[in-house]
Amino acid sequence: MACLLCAHETEEVAGFPALMRVTSDSRIWPAGGRLAICPQCHAVQKPVDSAFQQEAKDIYASYQLYFQSGGSEQKIFTERGARPRSELLLDHLLSLPLPEHCAALDVGCGAGNLLQALSRRRPGWALYGADIGDQRREQILAIHGVKHFFSGDISAIEGRFDIIFLSHVLEHVPSPVAFLRQLAMLLNPGGMLAVLVPHWRENAFDLLVADHCMHFTVPSLHRLLNECGFSILSGGSGLCPKELWAFASLRREEKSPVAIGENNVKAEVDKAIAWLAQARDWAMKCRPHTPLGIFGTAIAATWLTRAAGLAPNFFVDEDKDRQGLAYLGRPVLAPAAVLPESTVLVPLPPGIAENVADRLNRPFGKPVFLVPPAL
Ligand SMILES: [Zn+2]
Repeated sequence: MACLLCAHETEEVAGFPALMRVTSDSRIWPAGGRLAICPQCHAVQKPVDSAFQQEAKDIYASYQLYFQSGGSEQKIFTERGARPRSELLLDHLLSLPLPEHCAALDVGCGAGNLLQALSRRRPGWALYGADIGDQRREQILAIHGVKHFFSGDISAIEGRFDIIFLSHVLEHVPSPVAFLRQLAMLLNPGGMLAVLVPHWRENAFDLLVADHCMHFTVPSLHRLLNECGFSILSGGSGLCPKELWAFASLRREEKSPVAIGENNVKAEVDKAIAWLAQARDWAMKCRPHTPLGIFGTAIAATWLTRAAGLAPNFFVDEDKDRQGLAYLGRPVLAPAAVLPESTVLVPLPPGIAENVADRLNRPFGKPVFLVPPAL
């Protein structure tokens, strides 16, 4: 299959097809997918063959956005406490020098969380939402400041904008180069693009997401934006844990794109895939423990539960919006409600898992929360 970024022939990752997968809305998905790396530009990707296209269609046809918390946006836990992803993105973006009145478009606006946050913080801006489906049209138009909602693909979008948001969109797009070039034409001179995507280097579970066809690194995201006519203003990892971000503006003069090299991607992906299989095997060994809990109520928790054939008694989530609800038919508990004789598996990337387990084990004085093997 040709690389989605540079059209060079890609190479497949051998261990991937045997792993069960998960959808971006946290439902288990059968094994049998393909993962590939481009030997020329090193981009990690899913070959977009007819099987991928059919699966993506099936996933989107029954998509359930944020069903774990009754529709409220997923919280990101940082040292400064729990905050919705939109607020973290805006904290940073709104600290940049921006005109007083901007026209801002959110592509893939979903339930409108980002538009709502923008509306509260910049009530004078003209806001626009775009999404594939039309189901949320009235909900989006009801947000203060929203002038228009575009449904369908991006060719349906009319007008010019000062800021275009792409939060967790680009990893779903099978032709990212054409997509970004089309968006670039919708920007006013000096206009800006704000991108958030998952970061598999911090979170190997992202590679398992069946409907994500692109898996970015800092260099591959920057290289793509460069090639599509953008200059990077700021970006990297660390704004939201396990995610990459980039703010980019249209390049003014016809400068040639910046060359960004990258090594060892193949070895890193192989290691990540091996680690996922080890984490699953570790969970299988913990299967007889009772009462058994799983930390989290999203992609990694679903995948570990189903891939290891676990029947947990409960899930644990620090997000108050999720506590008291059910997940995969089991109750979601606050960490403080966990009984000391329990075992709770923490399916998070190494490093993050240790921090969470250390903190949550403290009141018990013993290891109740267990971490997967090291990478
Ligand atoms: Zn390539």
